[in-house]
Amino acid sequence: MCFAQSEMPTKKETMHGLTQFCTESLQEVERLGLRRALREVDGMHPVEVYDGEKTFISFAGNDYLGLRHHPAVIRAGQQALYRYGAGAGASRLVTGNHPLYAPLEARLAALKGQTGALVFGSGYLTNFGTIAALMGEGDLILADKLVHACILDGAQLSGAELKRFRHNDTRHAETLLRQSRGSYRHALIVTEHIFSMDGDCAPIASLVALAREYDAWLMVDDAHGLVSAPAASEEGVDIWSGTLSKALGSYGGYIAAAAPVTDYILNNARSFIFSTGLPPAACATALAALEVLDAEPQRRERPLELAWRVTDAFRLPRVASAIVPIIVGGAKAAVELSKRLKGQGIIVSAIRPPTVPPQTARLRLTFSYAHTDQHVDALIDALKTALGEMNLTLKSGAAAEYA
Ligand SMILES: *Cc1c(COP(=O)(O)O)cnc(C)c1O
Repeated sequence: MCFAQSEMPTKKETMHGLTQFCTESLQEVERLGLRRALREVDGMHPVEVYDGEKTFISFAGNDYLGLRHHPAVIRAGQQALYRYGAGAGASRLVTGNHPLYAPLEARLAALKGQTGALVFGSGYLTNFGTIAALMGEGDLILADKLVHACILDGAQLSGAELKRFRHNDTRHAETLLRQSRGSYRHALIVTEHIFSMDGDCAPIASLVALAREYDAWLMVDDAHGLVSAPAASEEGVDIWSGTLSKALGSYGGYIAAAAPVTDYILNNARSFIFSTGLPPAACATALAALEVLDAEPQRRERPLELAWRVTDAFRLPRVASAIVPIIVGGAKAAVELSKRLKGQGIIVSAIRPPTVPPQTARLRLTFSYAHTDQHVDALIDALKTALGEMNLTLKSGAAAEYA
């Protein structure tokens, strides 16, 4: 905006205006029960959290395999820190491509049965940058209704037309393609392997068939993968994306695809090109975590077993992953339930709109290899007590009911 010198707001007024705007906006989200706030967590233990007074058991992390604290993972990080320094010092295309990237990318490509892989600064930057680099005006993106925000943000940045299909509904996706595929140059179907807020799996094989039939590309975000789950057929998925920050206990994101595809992304994704490479220790710990996984495959089973113990206790449908949604409906009820659990020493996240659709506010429970049986029994007892006190009955955790 342009002001003549005389009408220019004074510095003080501008500050006041901004503070006032933010304060009022926060009051509104507070009123809706949607205000977010940070809390400090020491993270000394994989799933126990100490706040200076009391120890809590956390079912709110994504460290599904307990690898953040694995001694071999920590040792690898220490060695990388001493050898290569704290930061990468530059973007990967300048001088930040330290020697830990090549073995990490080779391993990620092999993991997904692809000939190429490319590591980004985070999972968010991976999806955001990849979609924006591949798609453009005149192209069509078809995304599952429940995909992660970074996929939608990338789609919006790309300038392509974005259409959403009902959650895990391949038929609906097909209808959209049949109606409009002919009007666009390229088409990309995007979904998640395991949905972050619902813990259910996408029908990958039927989406592969659909993509082939309609000359579309298929991209699958596997951010919550690596825990035992119905194996997605790796065959026919054009691009896998994922994160090093959840089951692998480190930080960063990646795509795995045919080598020319990853090379194209390297040349075009702005979130890759214009951002500093990962700290060497982040690559080293992710690589070590992948090695631990190969050596200790039983780590992948336990989170699912623990999740089933809880769904069975509440007669909820068994989930396909380490993520259990406890859907309570209103945002305030979800927050109240999580507060009562905290009073009993249990930390869970209350997930509210806009992260999930209206009236599906929920507790999102996640299970880790690091949880003991006692931890899970304490959760079940606390949840029974809190639900009883609030006189709440649970809606089924099945996402299909509201999608
Ligand atoms: C967490 C998450 C991401 C982002 O990964 P980060 O490494 O945390 O940035 C992307 N997609 C999905 C589905 C996620 O759950």
